[in-house]
Amino acid sequence: MPTCDIPKQAPYNILIVGAGLGGLATAIALRKKGHNVHVLEGAPALGEVGAGIQIPPNSTRLLEAWGLKDALMKKIVWPKAINMRRYDTGAVIGITPLDPTMQKAYGYPYWLIHRADYQQILCDAAIAEGAKVTFGAYVLDCDQDNVTVTLANGEVLSADLIIGADGISPLQCAKRNANAPYPGIKSRVREFAVMPEEIVEPRTTTNCAYRATVPGELMRADPELKKLIEEPYSNCWIGYRRHIMAYPIREGQLYNLVMSHPGAAAVGKWNEPGNLDEMKAHYAGWDPILDKVLDKVKACLKWKLADLPVLSRWVSRSGKVVLIGDAAHAMVPYLAQGAAQAIEDAATLAECISRTRSTDDFGAVLRVFQLIRKPRCEKIQKGSMENGDIWHMPDGPEQVARDADMKITMDLLAAEAAGIPTEKLAKTGKSNPNRWSDEEFQPWLFGHDAVAHANAQLDLLLKL
Ligand SMILES: Cc1cc2nc3c(=O)[nH]c(=O)nc-3n(C[C@H](O)[C@H](O)[C@H](O)COP(=O)(O)OP(=O)(O)OC[C@H]3O[C@@H](n4cnc5c(N)ncnc54)[C@H](O)[C@@H]3O)c2cc1C
Repeated sequence: MPTCDIPKQAPYNILIVGAGLGGLATAIALRKKGHNVHVLEGAPALGEVGAGIQIPPNSTRLLEAWGLKDALMKKIVWPKAINMRRYDTGAVIGITPLDPTMQKAYGYPYWLIHRADYQQILCDAAIAEGAKVTFGAYVLDCDQDNVTVTLANGEVLSADLIIGADGISPLQCAKRNANAPYPGIKSRVREFAVMPEEIVEPRTTTNCAYRATVPGELMRADPELKKLIEEPYSNCWIGYRRHIMAYPIREGQLYNLVMSHPGAAAVGKWNEPGNLDEMKAHYAGWDPILDKVLDKVKACLKWKLADLPVLSRWVSRSGKVVLIGDAAHAMVPYLAQGAAQAIEDAATLAECISRTRSTDDFGAVLRVFQLIRKPRCEKIQKGSMENGDIWHMPDGPEQVARDADMKITMDLLAAEAAGIPTEKLAKTGKSNPNRWSDEEFQPWLFGHDAVAHANAQLDLLLKL
């Protein structure tokens, strides 16, 4: 048999397209298994795009296992709870307790961080583990049969496996890299290698998000705003078609705001400047404390909220190219799970690749990866969209009923604080409509152990 027909044994040569949170996490997970990993990022460097991001326990479990706890602890804020507030008065209508509730319930904490710090920590860790990360390497084309990518500079790179972690939108890197042609709003790996015969368009919602930060010293200078930046809480004001999720990041150096509102913007353009007057007008008549906060915002970014439809597959016909993260399952941010799911993908994929004896096994094992991950991600995509509908109700009987049901967790906390055994409370038979606190959805979401689940499923499915 000629040498080229001998199936390759691990360690494999793996190309990852995209150094977002998903691509970098995958690089770490695969390096930990000993594979040769090269990450190709179109942007010339890591940037400060975006602001705060929430890291839920289903991610912190994996990040700790990868040895990143110490690095992250230097950059995170550890919030006590998420307070859901009525948009106009600021009255607390629901609570999701986080610290120490999450550690007690799921074994791992819930953190807040600046996205740039998170990405830098993952990038440093990937490089320290031995991954090669090349910036300014914009992938123009991906060939699923020859297992190659072609870069914008004409260079062709080959691998045993290609992972498309190129997100819902490659626009940010195209904008920053003058040599890269305008790429459209698709993942190139998905478009050219995984689903070449289908056109996948993101599903735009009617909402956009403004993102802004206020310097901590400006917040501290106002006695009323001081508590927002100094107390480690997330606050989420909810009203008709709008919400503002706000929390401190970078040890209180910045107050982070994500403001969802009905509006128009280019899909996937992560850094379009927003108009400040327009931004304030969206929240006119809201809790007066927000007027004060928004007055301190000097610039904001705006982008259209969109998700992906359910894809027919994540793995190429050749079985040598696979999608992860937003390229496979972009979701709206109403459960703050997009990056968390990309991190779960990374851990799961590394376990799957470990079960191969040679590159010949990739097709079967990647299809198992898809079987493991797709239903969970699709349920979270759907849950995220539904949670937005629950938050964005107009005032009226439905909203009154929602608020009454959202009080459930507050009543339990009050009972606990008063020393009343919670099992003695009358059962309402209702669950918290806010998915973050729903007694079935929350443990399913936050308690997930991607590595244990992957191995249990691999044991089962590879026997069939
Ligand atoms: C307003 C908002 C708030 C959010 N909040 C949270 C939150 O609190 N928690 C959470 O878990 N998630 C949150 N998310 C979701 C999260 O941001 C995304 O799900 C996550 O960033 C996806 O990571 P990714 O690596 O898959 O894709 P991306 O972050 O999009 O990274 C893709 C990378 O690939 C590069 N790239 C693209 N095309 C090419 C190419 N052809 N060649 C080379 N490189 C390329 C891009 O430059 C980019 O660096 C939020 C999203 C939004 C919009």
